[in-house]
Amino acid sequence: MIKPFVPQLVYIEPRALEYPRGVELKEKFEKMGLEIRETTSHNQVRNIPGKNHLQQYRTAKSTLVVGVRKTLEFDSSKPSAEYAIPLATGCMGHCHYCYLQTTMGSKPYIRTYVNVDEILEQAKDYMEERAPEITRFEASCTSDIVGIDHLTHSLKSAIEFFGQTDIGRLRFVTKFHHVDHLLDAKHNGKTRFRFSINADYVIKNFEPGTSPLDKRIEAAVKVAKAGYPLGFIVAPIYIHEGWQEGYKTLFEKLDASLPADVRDDITFEMIQHRFTKPAKRVIQKNYPKTKLELNEEERRYKWGRYGIGKYIYQKDQEQELRDTLEDYVDHYFPTAKVEYFT
Ligand code: SF4
Repeated sequence: MIKPFVPQLVYIEPRALEYPRGVELKEKFEKMGLEIRETTSHNQVRNIPGKNHLQQYRTAKSTLVVGVRKTLEFDSSKPSAEYAIPLATGCMGHCHYCYLQTTMGSKPYIRTYVNVDEILEQAKDYMEERAPEITRFEASCTSDIVGIDHLTHSLKSAIEFFGQTDIGRLRFVTKFHHVDHLLDAKHNGKTRFRFSINADYVIKNFEPGTSPLDKRIEAAVKVAKAGYPLGFIVAPIYIHEGWQEGYKTLFEKLDASLPADVRDDITFEMIQHRFTKPAKRVIQKNYPKTKLELNEEERRYKWGRYGIGKYIYQKDQEQELRDTLEDYVDHYFPTAKVEYFT
């Protein structure tokens, strides 16, 4: 049983206090008795305590910076959505394979943004540009937003904002089960609530600091009962001894837990394990004892954006993974939709 995240250390940027949300968070954290430091900008959060890299890295991952999002230009977020909506960055989880290790570089702390209204206004502009087409926004590209939302409620505000629109959809994925405050949000079916799931072996070995699978599934049932469209991301799909059985057990558990009345509109997204050369270096630095297989020779190289290619499974392995997992979906959830396998 993993407890809801409580930061070890909180930094507040002065500009954040110009927003009601910033003031509320400051008061809340004071009442919780947390250590709060002021900083002029998040780039100045340098003196994170710790004797060496590993200690500082761990402290940073449980440090929350309350700030203002300055860049209001959204990145694209293929294949799951048109845009990434930036409500927070960073995550307190310790998944060995997590790509945030490379994208967050030397600043792995968590930032939450208090100018949520400005971010949502920007989302509205993007929607209007594409109208009458539906525009989808992914809220978990740069963090596990659900994992911190019991403290900040910015995701809840976004859910209710999209609940009021006809041409916008929100989606996000999580490995945390602390969803209770989101059950009464007025989502109007416009938000797809997804959970990241995996075979036991992967969760046990590579996902420390996240909720156990059973808790994620329980939370999935709760949000589906609250009327949210539900989805699952199986990622990273990882070849290990007995993987076929491991993933089968996963689908059996899902099948045993999801009631019939929430199965009509479930989506599955599937992402095979991949890594880049820079990611490999960072993973080995942050998790020196990891068992994660990162052997370039065993993989297939796929050219990527910005000249940084990734290492994915060989074609025949990829096909076998795909066929096996799609068969499980067909068998256990014949009315579900597999959105993509990548
Ligand atoms: Fe990364 Fe998600 Fe794990 Fe957080 S929960 S460390 S965002 S993979």
